[in-house]
Amino acid sequence: MDTWFSRLMAAPLPPPRPGAAAVALAGVHKVFVTGAGEFTALQEVNLQVAPGEFVAVVGKSGSGKSTLINMITGIDRPSGGEVWVAGTPVHTLTENQTAVWRGRTLGVVFQFFQLLPTLTALENVMLPMDFCHVYEKSARPERALALLELVGVSAQAGKLPATLSGGQQQRVAIARSLANDPPLLVADEPTGNLDSRTAAAVLALFQGLARAGKTIVMVTHDQDIARQSSRIITVAEGRVVPVGEGGGPA
Ligand code: ADP
Ligand code: MG
Repeated sequence: MDTWFSRLMAAPLPPPRPGAAAVALAGVHKVFVTGAGEFTALQEVNLQVAPGEFVAVVGKSGSGKSTLINMITGIDRPSGGEVWVAGTPVHTLTENQTAVWRGRTLGVVFQFFQLLPTLTALENVMLPMDFCHVYEKSARPERALALLELVGVSAQAGKLPATLSGGQQQRVAIARSLANDPPLLVADEPTGNLDSRTAAAVLALFQGLARAGKTIVMVTHDQDIARQSSRIITVAEGRVVPVGEGGGPA
């Protein structure tokens, strides 16, 4: 049966290079072609993130933070240069390979949660497990509940996203990002839509995950939040600002 799903499962992945950096970008360029012409969103970006680092990416609106993050997740492709994540050359993967690879390798958390509205919290967390087959089917509901417990919203397991607060929805989204136990979490302004108290609670969750050994790359507007990471990367006009020119921690 040639369904989109069986094609996905048949997409073989290149073996990762052992002992590699969690994330390595080399000479990455990104040019968007629009009706108004070409726009260079990233230029000559070189970046390495070691396993276990908690990196905050800061910079003005429109500086290229989301574009940079989308290179790491494979949501978007570089126009030039190389993107390696845990030893896999992401820039060389086909779309199908990218989907399989992403499901197993990284959890993604967005500003607006992106939970599926017709699924309960528990079902949202189970979805990546059903997609990637890392965990046995019979083990998935229990694992999903344990992840909701970990992030403090197990009481909301049977509820639909619309009935939850923003903070609760983001906790569910973080639980979902952990579904297949990925080594890397990538978050694009995960606290950008939360009040400051809820944002602090969500940051504490990320810090706990970093202490537990996850590598985290998190975009944030909030300098207070960025300061609590282990390294700050500043993006300005599509470039990573070298440390010592405003790129280092305050
Ligand atoms: P940030 O996340 O730092 O606010 P983005 O990475 O979203 O910035 O965008 C960087 C620049 O690239 C902006 O000028 C934005 O308008 C432009 N851009 C982003 N995505 C696209 C796209 N799909 N097409 C054209 N331009 C884009
Ligand atoms: Mg952005």
